[in-house]
Amino acid sequence: MKQEFNWHNIDATEVARILNVSIETGLSSPEVEEKTLKYGKNVLTKKKRQSAFARFLLQFHQPLIYILLAATVVTFFLDEIVDSAVIFGVVLINAIIGYIQETKALKAIDALEGSLAQKAAVIRNGKKQIIESVEIVPGDVVLLRSGDKFPADIRLFELQDMQVDESALTGESVPVQKHIDPVPAENVLGDRFCMGFSSTNVTYGQGRGIVVATGDYTEVGKIQQSIAGAQDLETPLTEKIKKFSHLLLKVIIGLSFILIVIGLIRGESFGEIFMVAVALAVGAIPEGLPVAVTIMLALGVSKMAKRKAIIRKLVAVETLGSTNVICSDKTGTLTENQMTVQKIFAGGYFFNVTGLGYNPEGTVELNGLPADLQLFKSLSLCLQAGILCNDSGLREKNGAWMIEGEPTEGALLVSGYKGGFKLEELECDMPRISSIPFESEYQYMATLHGGVQQIIFMKGASEAILERCNWMYDENGDLTALNKTQILSEVEELASQGLRVLGFAMKYPATELERVNHEDTGLEMIFLGIQGMIDPPRKEAIEAVALCQKAGIDVKMITGDHAITAASIAEQIGLQGLRENGKLKALNGKELQLLDNGDFGDAAESVAVFARVSPDQKLRLVKALQERGKIVAMTGDGVNDGPALKQANIGVAMGITGTDVAKDASDMVLTDDNFSSIEGAVEEGRGVFDNLTKFIVWTLPTNLGEGLVILAAVVVGSQLPILPVQLLWINMTTAILLGLMLAFEPKEPGIMDRPPRPAKQPILTTDLIMRTLLVGTLMMFAAFGLYSYEVDFANQSVSYGQTVATSVFIFMEAAYLFNCRSVVRPLNEIGFFTNRWVFFGIGAMTFFQLIYIYTSVMNTLFNSSPLQMDSWWRIIGVSVALFVIVTIEKRIRFNLSKPTNK
Ligand code: ATP
Repeated sequence: MKQEFNWHNIDATEVARILNVSIETGLSSPEVEEKTLKYGKNVLTKKKRQSAFARFLLQFHQPLIYILLAATVVTFFLDEIVDSAVIFGVVLINAIIGYIQETKALKAIDALEGSLAQKAAVIRNGKKQIIESVEIVPGDVVLLRSGDKFPADIRLFELQDMQVDESALTGESVPVQKHIDPVPAENVLGDRFCMGFSSTNVTYGQGRGIVVATGDYTEVGKIQQSIAGAQDLETPLTEKIKKFSHLLLKVIIGLSFILIVIGLIRGESFGEIFMVAVALAVGAIPEGLPVAVTIMLALGVSKMAKRKAIIRKLVAVETLGSTNVICSDKTGTLTENQMTVQKIFAGGYFFNVTGLGYNPEGTVELNGLPADLQLFKSLSLCLQAGILCNDSGLREKNGAWMIEGEPTEGALLVSGYKGGFKLEELECDMPRISSIPFESEYQYMATLHGGVQQIIFMKGASEAILERCNWMYDENGDLTALNKTQILSEVEELASQGLRVLGFAMKYPATELERVNHEDTGLEMIFLGIQGMIDPPRKEAIEAVALCQKAGIDVKMITGDHAITAASIAEQIGLQGLRENGKLKALNGKELQLLDNGDFGDAAESVAVFARVSPDQKLRLVKALQERGKIVAMTGDGVNDGPALKQANIGVAMGITGTDVAKDASDMVLTDDNFSSIEGAVEEGRGVFDNLTKFIVWTLPTNLGEGLVILAAVVVGSQLPILPVQLLWINMTTAILLGLMLAFEPKEPGIMDRPPRPAKQPILTTDLIMRTLLVGTLMMFAAFGLYSYEVDFANQSVSYGQTVATSVFIFMEAAYLFNCRSVVRPLNEIGFFTNRWVFFGIGAMTFFQLIYIYTSVMNTLFNSSPLQMDSWWRIIGVSVALFVIVTIEKRIRFNLSKPTNK
């Protein structure tokens, strides 16, 4: 929508009039339809990525390709037209394949980004609805609370202490306090206090407003700052590989230079010796490696998505495999987040509440008999507080009872209903005037109600409530001084049964209030009681925690809940950690505060349960663990969890309950909020890393062997056993047809029985370097040996010998592919047929190699020759021999170093 008005300078009611919307009932469906047609969807036109053509051209921007392009030009001038054309053809095909693969990887990641659509709460047709933010139109009435991202530009008209982080737009990192009064027209963005702008975040409080601009017409749209941005396909691993290739390139250029000088001194022609140098470069550089790694990581992204973990940053796939600590929220992640109040302590009595779930059928009982609320004033007020100081709703659909809003609050509605109260009736007698929303920082919520006499109700963490109370009702319903010790011991009693305990209080304000503030609930509150609700552990979480612990990953619970409740649930889930007096030790925020850095680090490492933890303590915990060399995955959902999520090696946000802010700061989002999905992602991460290692171990010996063959030819002064174009043929076809098949290798059995891979451990351990040297040397001897045999003893042509050498590399690689299906396990252990793609790859490779050998076009292009059967037997013989030798080598090495880490 065009900004024809200075919305910040106009009164909110006038804004509503201009946009023709009622702030109570919002837009109607036909109005929404009409506006969608008029203004379109609420999306920012994506910042243009590099054009397809530019991305294609960039495929040529690689040092190796420069060499090949130079070779194309030089061979052309040396009159080797066919060679020149073939080299250029290969460069072109390489670029096309690189482009296609990169596009695929980008698409896969884009698709996942799309599945994380932002949601918004709006009022339409008089009802609150949750819709996708893209559906928002100008005129929509939007509800916002802390942690939400503004879905569009909004003129605020009702606020409860709202603060907004506008740094995404203005660069100002201090949150801005909003108010609803118009401001002068000339105010800059940061000073338009009655407005909220698209892509900024609510950090505190809540409010409502009318959408005045959507999509490209928003302030952020105008500056074309698409926040989503393009995905980065680089990870530390691909960086390392690139650096390694560059280093190799330099070495090879140096070597080639020496070769050329020696050749020229020996009196060889420049043309010949130049081709040798090109062959060395082409053969020894693993050109397919960076692309293959990216593809394998991208494949990992889709595998993880199937297990409900959406990867937002490619690097996470890599890091997940070496994660050794997972810090998880409790509520909803380790537990079901299906709350039912079971116990109430009020006015000196313990009451039981019957029934399970959100069905409000059941009773509040004392000693097995329904409690008469007339007799128990404290209980009656405690239940009323639970219903009125509450933002959730309860509804029935096809016989099933559901809640809208938070389960903790839903459970309180249900317990109130079981006591005989109804929300509508209570609201009629005591309408809500204002409220202090729940924020983890204060750990309570309060509401002010009118009626015959004003009343403030408050509910929250028991400590937070007790701090503010001086009074309570005794057994007869008379006011008496608060007995804090007694109540705390009752709280502990309920918490030790794993119940989540909430405290309730009230007060009649001394003077009439217009709204309730923190000062009004500071002191002199009357304590009403506590309600204890069960939240059973998730079954899958129990299994996943056991799997993680077996895999050497520490699982820690970091929760806002009470320490005793947390410890009891942690015990039920089977968390392992420091124990005291036979019980799991739980540290709470206050205790953590008292620890100096050293003790804090020790505690972070040894203790498994942290309760009443503030967001900054979460951050400190992550840092302390990282200082001790841990790779930390940390979950978070709240608006203040951003820094800890960013600091963690893997920040994990909750897809369902997580705020937009938490999702933005995370590397991974769980679509089901379930701990077991983190475990699943770690398992996949390990699998992807295994397969990457397998690919690297498979590909490097070929490059080494090829380089060595060229060097050997120079040293003994023979013709080149393989020409540059032939090397290109080998490297290109095998990387795609053989190597990539390893990406489909199933996870090795026992993948979660071994400790995490140390983050600093290089991919190529000494064992693997030795194997690379062994296989590379064997390939060199086989290729050079059989070439010499054919040319020197069997009197075959050079072209025949080169065809044999080329085939030797290809089929030895095929045989070695079976060895590489596991780095340590022999084939019979992993199962011959468990990765059918390998057979498909080898079949396809053989087909293409037969074309290469037996068609005249390929014979002309690549200077290949048809082979006779006896040569085939020798090629197959050396290939099988390589497989057998590596199998024996594996067995010896595996037996030598049994507890290995691969
Ligand atoms: P986790 O961090 O594992 O998700 P949590 O949900 O208990 O745990 P918070 O949401 O920070 O963490 O809640 C902290 C405490 O505040 C709770 O234990 C409860 O006592 C209280 N509380 C939670 N929700 C509300 C609410 N809507 N109103 C009042 N108090 C609440």
